[in-house]
Amino acid sequence: MSGSEVIILRIGHRPERDQRVTTHVGLTARALGAKGMYLAAADKGVVESIGDVASRWGGDFFCQDNVKWRTCIKDWKAKGGTVIHLTMYGLNLPDVIDQVKTHKKILVIVGAEKVPGEIYGLADYNVAVTSQPHSEISSLALFLDHYFSGQEFRNEFPGAQIRIIPTPAGKHTED
Ligand code: SAM
Repeated sequence: MSGSEVIILRIGHRPERDQRVTTHVGLTARALGAKGMYLAAADKGVVESIGDVASRWGGDFFCQDNVKWRTCIKDWKAKGGTVIHLTMYGLNLPDVIDQVKTHKKILVIVGAEKVPGEIYGLADYNVAVTSQPHSEISSLALFLDHYFSGQEFRNEFPGAQIRIIPTPAGKHTED
Protein backbone atom coordinates (compact mmCIF):
# COMPACT_ATOMS: atom_id res chain seq x y z
CA MET A 1 0.00 0.00 0.00
CA SER A 2 3.02 2.23 -0.01
CA GLY A 3 2.84 5.01 -2.52
CA SER A 4 -0.94 5.25 -2.53
CA GLU A 5 -2.86 8.33 -1.44
CA VAL A 6 -6.45 7.84 -0.37
CA ILE A 7 -8.57 10.75 0.84
CA ILE A 8 -12.26 10.73 1.71
CA LEU A 9 -14.74 13.39 0.62
CA ARG A 10 -17.78 13.40 2.89
CA ILE A 11 -20.77 15.19 1.37
CA GLY A 12 -24.31 15.89 2.60
CA HIS A 13 -23.25 16.21 6.26
CA ARG A 14 -25.91 17.86 8.44
CA PRO A 15 -24.21 19.14 11.63
CA GLU A 16 -27.38 18.80 13.69
CA ARG A 17 -27.73 15.06 13.06
CA ASP A 18 -24.69 13.55 11.31
CA GLN A 19 -21.86 14.46 13.70
CA ARG A 20 -21.45 10.98 15.13
CA VAL A 21 -21.62 9.15 11.81
CA THR A 22 -19.29 11.62 10.07
CA THR A 23 -16.80 11.34 12.94
CA HIS A 24 -16.94 7.56 12.56
CA VAL A 25 -16.40 7.86 8.79
CA GLY A 26 -13.22 9.81 9.58
CA LEU A 27 -12.03 7.41 12.28
CA THR A 28 -12.67 4.42 10.03
CA ALA A 29 -10.79 6.10 7.18
CA ARG A 30 -7.84 6.83 9.50
CA ALA A 31 -7.71 3.34 11.02
CA LEU A 32 -7.88 1.66 7.62
CA GLY A 33 -5.15 3.57 5.83
CA ALA A 34 -6.60 6.78 4.34
CA LYS A 35 -4.58 9.97 4.72
CA GLY A 36 -7.39 12.42 5.45
CA MET A 37 -10.98 13.51 5.06
CA TYR A 38 -12.47 16.57 3.39
CA LEU A 39 -15.82 17.55 4.85
CA ALA A 40 -18.17 19.47 2.56
CA ALA A 41 -19.78 21.36 5.46
CA ALA A 42 -18.71 23.53 8.36
CA ASP A 43 -18.35 21.47 11.54
CA LYS A 44 -15.48 22.20 13.88
CA GLY A 45 -16.83 19.59 16.33
CA VAL A 46 -16.05 16.78 13.86
CA VAL A 47 -12.64 18.28 13.03
CA GLU A 48 -11.75 18.50 16.73
CA SER A 49 -12.96 14.99 17.61
CA ILE A 50 -10.92 13.43 14.82
CA GLY A 51 -7.94 15.66 15.63
CA ASP A 52 -8.05 14.55 19.29
CA VAL A 53 -7.94 10.88 18.32
CA ALA A 54 -5.17 11.44 15.76
CA SER A 55 -2.99 13.31 18.24
CA ARG A 56 -3.30 10.60 20.91
CA TRP A 57 -3.17 7.55 18.66
CA GLY A 58 -0.55 8.72 16.17
CA GLY A 59 -0.15 9.12 12.43
CA ASP A 60 -0.81 12.26 10.42
CA PHE A 61 -4.48 11.89 9.40
CA PHE A 62 -6.09 15.25 8.67
CA CYS A 63 -9.70 16.44 8.64
CA GLN A 64 -10.58 19.66 6.82
CA ASP A 65 -14.08 21.12 6.91
CA ASN A 66 -15.73 23.83 4.80
CA VAL A 67 -14.63 22.18 1.56
CA LYS A 68 -16.59 22.92 -1.64
CA TRP A 69 -17.20 19.50 -3.13
CA ARG A 70 -17.27 20.56 -6.81
CA THR A 71 -13.99 22.44 -6.47
CA CYS A 72 -12.47 19.57 -4.49
CA ILE A 73 -13.35 17.02 -7.19
CA LYS A 74 -12.20 19.33 -10.00
CA ASP A 75 -8.87 20.06 -8.30
CA TRP A 76 -8.32 16.37 -7.52
CA LYS A 77 -8.82 15.41 -11.17
CA ALA A 78 -6.65 18.30 -12.36
CA LYS A 79 -3.83 16.85 -10.25
CA GLY A 80 -4.24 13.46 -11.94
CA GLY A 81 -6.31 11.85 -9.17
CA THR A 82 -9.14 9.35 -9.59
CA VAL A 83 -12.60 9.78 -8.09
CA ILE A 84 -14.49 6.85 -6.57
CA HIS A 85 -18.11 7.30 -5.47
CA LEU A 86 -19.49 4.67 -3.11
CA THR A 87 -23.11 4.04 -3.97
CA MET A 88 -25.34 0.98 -3.95
CA TYR A 89 -26.27 1.82 -7.58
CA GLY A 90 -22.71 1.39 -8.86
CA LEU A 91 -20.73 -1.59 -10.15
CA ASN A 92 -20.19 -4.28 -7.56
CA LEU A 93 -16.89 -3.96 -5.67
CA PRO A 94 -15.38 -7.38 -6.61
CA ASP A 95 -16.00 -6.63 -10.29
CA VAL A 96 -14.07 -3.33 -10.36
CA ILE A 97 -11.53 -3.44 -7.52
CA ASP A 98 -8.66 -4.75 -9.70
CA GLN A 99 -9.11 -1.81 -12.06
CA VAL A 100 -9.48 0.66 -9.17
CA LYS A 101 -6.27 -0.67 -7.61
CA THR A 102 -4.29 0.48 -10.66
CA HIS A 103 -4.96 4.06 -9.47
CA LYS A 104 -2.75 5.20 -6.60
CA LYS A 105 -4.25 8.62 -5.90
CA ILE A 106 -7.94 8.24 -5.12
CA LEU A 107 -10.67 10.42 -3.65
CA VAL A 108 -13.46 8.32 -2.14
CA ILE A 109 -16.82 10.09 -1.93
CA VAL A 110 -19.39 9.00 0.64
CA GLY A 111 -22.78 10.63 1.10
CA ALA A 112 -25.14 11.14 3.98
CA GLU A 113 -28.88 11.13 3.24
CA LYS A 114 -28.99 12.11 -0.43
CA VAL A 115 -26.25 12.53 -3.00
CA PRO A 116 -26.61 15.11 -5.84
CA GLY A 117 -27.08 13.37 -9.22
CA GLU A 118 -24.08 15.27 -10.61
CA ILE A 119 -21.72 13.19 -8.45
CA TYR A 120 -22.50 10.04 -10.46
CA GLY A 121 -21.24 11.72 -13.62
CA LEU A 122 -18.20 13.33 -12.01
CA ALA A 123 -16.97 10.03 -10.53
CA ASP A 124 -14.54 7.89 -12.51
CA TYR A 125 -16.00 4.83 -10.77
CA ASN A 126 -19.38 4.41 -9.04
CA VAL A 127 -18.74 1.44 -6.75
CA ALA A 128 -21.34 -0.62 -4.88
CA VAL A 129 -20.48 -2.57 -1.76
CA THR A 130 -23.30 -4.97 -2.59
CA SER A 131 -26.41 -3.57 -4.28
CA GLN A 132 -28.20 -3.32 -0.94
CA PRO A 133 -28.62 -0.18 1.18
CA HIS A 134 -26.51 0.02 4.33
CA SER A 135 -24.12 2.69 5.57
CA GLU A 136 -21.27 4.98 4.59
CA ILE A 137 -19.17 3.52 7.42
CA SER A 138 -19.57 -0.12 6.42
CA SER A 139 -19.18 0.61 2.70
CA LEU A 140 -16.02 2.65 3.32
CA ALA A 141 -14.51 -0.02 5.59
CA LEU A 142 -15.05 -2.79 3.07
CA PHE A 143 -13.87 -0.66 0.17
CA LEU A 144 -10.61 0.28 1.95
CA ASP A 145 -9.95 -3.31 3.03
CA HIS A 146 -10.34 -4.52 -0.57
CA TYR A 147 -8.31 -1.61 -1.96
CA PHE A 148 -5.41 -2.23 0.44
CA SER A 149 -5.78 -6.05 0.20
CA GLY A 150 -5.77 -6.38 4.00
CA GLN A 151 -2.31 -4.79 4.32
CA GLU A 152 -3.83 -1.90 6.33
CA PHE A 153 -3.85 -4.24 9.38
CA ARG A 154 -0.06 -3.86 9.47
CA ASN A 155 -0.03 -0.03 9.42
CA GLU A 156 2.05 1.87 11.96
CA PHE A 157 0.89 5.16 13.53
CA PRO A 158 4.06 7.09 14.39
CA GLY A 159 4.10 9.60 17.22
CA ALA A 160 1.30 7.94 19.23
CA GLN A 161 0.95 8.84 22.92
CA ILE A 162 -0.80 5.54 23.55
CA ARG A 163 -0.53 2.14 21.86
CA ILE A 164 -2.44 -1.09 22.34
CA ILE A 165 -0.47 -4.30 22.92
CA PRO A 166 -2.84 -6.92 21.51
CA THR A 167 -3.64 -9.56 24.12
CA PRO A 168 -6.00 -12.54 24.13
CA ALA A 169 -7.86 -11.22 27.19
CA GLY A 170 -8.08 -7.93 29.05
CA LYS A 171 -6.68 -4.56 28.02
CA HIS A 172 -2.97 -3.87 27.65
CA THR A 173 -1.67 -0.46 26.58
CA GLU A 174 1.64 1.39 26.74
CA ASP A 175 2.18 5.17 26.87
N1 SAM B 1 -30.37 6.78 -0.10
C1 SAM B 1 -29.22 7.62 -0.27
C2 SAM B 1 -28.99 7.92 -1.73
O1 SAM B 1 -29.66 7.37 -2.56
O2 SAM B 1 -28.08 8.69 -2.02
C3 SAM B 1 -28.00 6.96 0.37
C4 SAM B 1 -28.00 7.00 1.87
S1 SAM B 1 -26.77 6.00 2.66
C5 SAM B 1 -27.31 5.95 4.31
C6 SAM B 1 -25.38 7.06 2.82
C7 SAM B 1 -24.19 6.66 2.03
O3 SAM B 1 -23.80 5.35 2.34
C8 SAM B 1 -24.33 6.69 0.53
O4 SAM B 1 -24.23 7.99 -0.02
C9 SAM B 1 -23.17 5.80 0.10
O5 SAM B 1 -21.96 6.54 0.03
C10 SAM B 1 -23.09 4.79 1.25
N2 SAM B 1 -23.70 3.50 0.92
C11 SAM B 1 -24.82 2.96 1.46
N3 SAM B 1 -25.05 1.75 0.96
C12 SAM B 1 -24.06 1.50 0.07
C13 SAM B 1 -23.74 0.39 -0.78
N4 SAM B 1 -24.48 -0.71 -0.82
N5 SAM B 1 -22.63 0.49 -1.54
C14 SAM B 1 -21.84 1.58 -1.51
N6 SAM B 1 -22.10 2.66 -0.74
C15 SAM B 1 -23.19 2.62 0.06
